[in-house]
Amino acid sequence: MSKIKMKTPPVEMDGDEMTRVIWNMIKDVVIRPYIDLQTEYYDLGLENREKTQDQVTYDAAEATRRLGVAVKCATITPNAQRVEEYKLSKMWPSPNATVRAVLDGTVFRAPILVDGITPYVSGWKKPITIARHAYGDIYKSVEAQIPQGGKAELVVTMPDGTQTHHNIFDFNKSAGIVMGMHNTDISIRSFAHACFQYALDQHQDLWFGAKDTISKTYDHHFKDIFAEIFESTYKSRFEASGISYFYTLIDDAVARVIRSDGGFIWACKNYDGDVMSDMVATAFGSLSMMTSVLVNPDGVYEYEAAHGTITRHYYRYLKGETPMSNPIATLFAWTGALKKRGELDGISALTDFAQKVEDAMFETVRNGFVTKDLYVMSTLENKQVVTTEEFLNKIMANI
Ligand code: NAP
Ligand code: MG
Repeated sequence: MSKIKMKTPPVEMDGDEMTRVIWNMIKDVVIRPYIDLQTEYYDLGLENREKTQDQVTYDAAEATRRLGVAVKCATITPNAQRVEEYKLSKMWPSPNATVRAVLDGTVFRAPILVDGITPYVSGWKKPITIARHAYGDIYKSVEAQIPQGGKAELVVTMPDGTQTHHNIFDFNKSAGIVMGMHNTDISIRSFAHACFQYALDQHQDLWFGAKDTISKTYDHHFKDIFAEIFESTYKSRFEASGISYFYTLIDDAVARVIRSDGGFIWACKNYDGDVMSDMVATAFGSLSMMTSVLVNPDGVYEYEAAHGTITRHYYRYLKGETPMSNPIATLFAWTGALKKRGELDGISALTDFAQKVEDAMFETVRNGFVTKDLYVMSTLENKQVVTTEEFLNKIMANI
């Protein structure tokens, strides 16, 4: 058999620790035997970020904008302990945050559902994808403590210098607290476009919920922007694709999500997305089974696993333990990127191959072969623990 040829290279962002080991295993066992793999490679491992003073992260983000599709390995976000461990000259920022900022992207997180792992919410049969608006609100807020007798006002200075004052509260009976937060039309619009585009890409309904009945200006503005963009740009494409856009109050959205059987995209404001993504991920079973896609308003896609570099496993690996971690989310980052590349370049063999790998993964788990993390959760009777490499080999045997 001749290898599948690629046209446009995807951007490949290598990473750290256990996931860097898994990364190479996936390329060796799954991809290179079948595909003449051509990527534009950027090493985002912490050592190279230090060596390049983080320039490599910006280069990778720019390359992603240029080429349209990227696949990223998990990377260390340094903290004080990592600065020590890696002798860093600086506490480099999170590569994910850098890439997200350069691309102005929205992150979509979706669980991979397999036989034997039952969601805690028994009605959920299909994945629920959460889109979190990762800009502003309380994450860029200004807060203050107000002593009793103090007063808080909202002062807005207009472009012409005139000011408006809004009384927030007179703290004459008690001391208290106050918070000022903001968002921008540009950011909300990017978020809305990314959500509508991804819904079309996935052929799934889009839900959005905010607290517009209480927050008549702030949250209502989100609702209005979504409605306006939907009407002007996406309505007919949604109709043609047989999907719908649905806005409801956030409380109602939460109730409907629990009662649903899944299979839709749930757009969330920043705080809602922060909290709900943890709830949804836990309810679906495991962090090791969450995928993550960064989509920008121009339709640029970056695929990765939602989990980190699995440091605890890596330290055991350095002591000689055979890798036992679950490669599924990282594998699906690769298949996601290859499928998208195949789709954009019109190479059906590439898309078909990536789909076959995914199908074979589901079959492998159905046959009872799972990594340790899934073994403890699986209700399958014929279950059996395999190492990371054995698991990948089983997948390839199933193709
Ligand atoms: P983590 O790497 O996601 O791992 C946390 C724990 O979850 C692991 O110790 C393991 O539990 C379990 N786990 C996660 N993925 C697994 C998999 N594929 N297979 C089996 N078990 C898995 O989170 P962390 O330990 O908090 O963070 C480690 C590093 O990753 C940090 O330096 C952080 O900055 C970075 N990080 C990067 C990203 C990213 O690049 N997107 C995201 C998050 C964190 P057990 O040990 O109990 O087996
Ligand atoms: Mg959170």
